[in-house]
Amino acid sequence: MADDPKRKTLEERQEMSDIDRLRHSCAHVLATAILRIWPEAQFAAGPPVEGGFYYDLELDHRISPEDFPKIEAEMTKVVKENQTFERQVVTRDEALAMAKNGRLSALSDRPEASTFKLDIIEGIPEGEEISLFKNGDFIDLCAGPHVGRTGNCKAFKLTSVAAAFYKGDAANPQLQRVYGTAFKNKTMLNEHLEALEEAKKRDHRLLGKQLELFHIDESVGQGLVLWMPNGAIVRQELQNFISEELTRQGYQQVFTPHIGKLDLYKTSGHFPYYQESQFPPVIARDHLIGLADEGCSCSDLTNQLEAGEVEGYLLKPMNCPHHIKIFDATPKSYRDLPVRLAEFGTVYRWEQSGELGGMTRVRGFTQDDAHLFCTDEQVEGEVLGCLGLVKKVLSTLGMEDYRVRVSLRDPTSDKYVGDPANWDRAEEALRRAAGTLEVPFTEEEGEAAFYGPKIDFVVKDVIGREWQLGTVQVDYNLPERFNLSYVGADNASHRPVMVHRAPFGSMERFVGVLIEHFAGKFPTWLAPEQVRVLPISEKSQEYCEAVEAQLKEAGVRTSLDATAEKLGAKIRLAQLSQTPYMLVAGEREAAEGTVSVRHRQRGDTGTMSIDDFTKLVVEEISSRSL
Ligand SMILES: [Zn+2]
Ligand SMILES: [Zn+2]
Repeated sequence: MADDPKRKTLEERQEMSDIDRLRHSCAHVLATAILRIWPEAQFAAGPPVEGGFYYDLELDHRISPEDFPKIEAEMTKVVKENQTFERQVVTRDEALAMAKNGRLSALSDRPEASTFKLDIIEGIPEGEEISLFKNGDFIDLCAGPHVGRTGNCKAFKLTSVAAAFYKGDAANPQLQRVYGTAFKNKTMLNEHLEALEEAKKRDHRLLGKQLELFHIDESVGQGLVLWMPNGAIVRQELQNFISEELTRQGYQQVFTPHIGKLDLYKTSGHFPYYQESQFPPVIARDHLIGLADEGCSCSDLTNQLEAGEVEGYLLKPMNCPHHIKIFDATPKSYRDLPVRLAEFGTVYRWEQSGELGGMTRVRGFTQDDAHLFCTDEQVEGEVLGCLGLVKKVLSTLGMEDYRVRVSLRDPTSDKYVGDPANWDRAEEALRRAAGTLEVPFTEEEGEAAFYGPKIDFVVKDVIGREWQLGTVQVDYNLPERFNLSYVGADNASHRPVMVHRAPFGSMERFVGVLIEHFAGKFPTWLAPEQVRVLPISEKSQEYCEAVEAQLKEAGVRTSLDATAEKLGAKIRLAQLSQTPYMLVAGEREAAEGTVSVRHRQRGDTGTMSIDDFTKLVVEEISSRSL
C-alpha cells in the first residue's frame, strides 16, 4: 500500500492475504463514507492490521463512537452501490497535480491540497510505479491490492477511535485513527465480535479491580503489583498446590534475598550486559562516597557502570546465581545429584513503561523458579519431571489445551556457548521429553538462548486465546562460569548441567491468565471467599453465626452477611463477588439444623444438614475440584 508510512516492497504488498485485502478495501469504503459526511477530511494511512483495519485522518470534528452508526450507514450505502475498485497507473507529476488539487483521498477536487498524500508521494522512490484506486467518485493513492467491488465488504464493523501521530512521530500532526474490522461474512463477523466482548468481560485488569485481587499504585511504581488480600489467597493456594507437587518430586525449597552483589552478576554475565532490562544498580555506600570525593561526574559514573567498574548491588534480575551459591555451599558427589532447588523467587526487570499492563507485563514478579543440577545423563529425566508437573497443574486447572515449543540452536551460527556434543544430547533429550506429553509440539531452529536449548509452554484458554507461560531451559554456560563441580563415581571432578525451570512463568502472569480463564469464577479451592452465609432475618442470625463458625473451624473460608438487606440483595451481592456457595437460613433451617444451599452457577441445590454440607465443601476443596 502506498498509503502505509512504513513502506513495503512491491512483493510484500502482493503477498497481502485475502482477509487483509478485504479489510484494506473496507478502509477505502470507510474513507468514502467519511468524505460523504465531512468532505474536508484529510486522510493519511489506511492499512490492514491484526484483526481489522484503520484509516488515519485529520478532521476538526472529533469522531466518537456516537458517530459510528452514521458512518456505518453511509458505508453500507457504498457497499450496496457495489462500486468497482479500479486501478490506474499515473506519473509522479499527475499524482502530485491531483494531490495539489485536493483530489486524492477525496470525492472531488477540493480547495485544500491532499497534504498527507502529497507527502507520501514525495516519499515514493524514483522509478517506483505510482497507482491510484478508484471506487465511485472516491480516488485514493494506493498500490493495492483490493477486492473486486465494494459489495464484497458487506460484513464490517467500526470498533474504536484513537489518537495517532502522522507516521507515528510525535513531532508530526496528531490524527484520528478510526478502527474497524471486517470478515468474509456476517456469521464470522458476529463470532469475532462476541469473542471480543467475552474477552473484554474477562479482562483481568477489570476483574482484578472488581474482585479486589490486586492493585497497581502509581506512588509505589508502575508495573509493581500489590496483591490484595483476595488475590493473595489465590496466589497462596496455587503456591501450596505447586509446592506439594514439588515436594513429591524431590525438590527442596530455599529462600534467597532480593538483591545480590554486582560481582555475582558479573560472574553470571547478567551485568553489565543486560543493563537496559534491569533496574540501575544500588551503588555501595563506601564506593559512592569515594566517587564523590574524587569529584566523579554523572557521565563518569555512567561510563563506569557501562564498563561494570562500580561496586554495589543489583535487584536480582534472575534467581539462578543465588541458587548456584546454595548448590556450591557444600561439596557434592554424584550420589547427591540431581539437586533440585525451588523458590518462589521475586525478580526485577526494567520493562519500558509503554509495555506495562495489568499482571501480565510487570517490573517485579515472582517466578515459580527452580534450578536442577544434574549429570548429562540425568537431563532427560529432569526435563520429563518438569513436564509432568506442568501436566498435573494445568489439568487440575482445566487447561488441557496447550502446546509446547522446543527451541533449538541455529546450526549455522557460532553464537552458542558450550560443547556442540552436549547441545546435540540436550536437544535430543528435550525433543524426546516433549514427545511424551501427548500434546502438539513444534521445533524451532535458531530460537534457543545462546547457553542452551529450551521448552516453552503455550496454553489456550476457554475462549481460544493463547498465552505464553514459562520455560524449561537447559544451561551449559552458568556451571562453567561459576566453576561448579561434583565428584563422580570415578573420583574425578565433573561439571554438572543446570536446568532452569519456571513452567508457569510468574505468579503474577499465571494468576492474570487464570483470572481470564475462569472469568473471575475461581473453583472453590482457589476462591478467596468459598462460602457466604445469608440469614433471612435477624431471627436466624445466631444460628447463622454458628454455621459460619463450624465452617471456619473446618478450614473453609466463610463469611456472614449480617446486613439488614433483603435476601435477594444479599444473593446478588454474593453473586457479584463470585462466591461459589451461598447458604441461606431462616427460622425453619435453624430449627432443623439445615441450610438451603445455593451455588453461584448451578443456583438452588436444595436443603441439607450443616454437617453434610461441611463434608461436601471440604471434600471439594481438598480434591481441588473444578
Ligand atoms: Zn488501498
Ligand atoms: Zn535460572
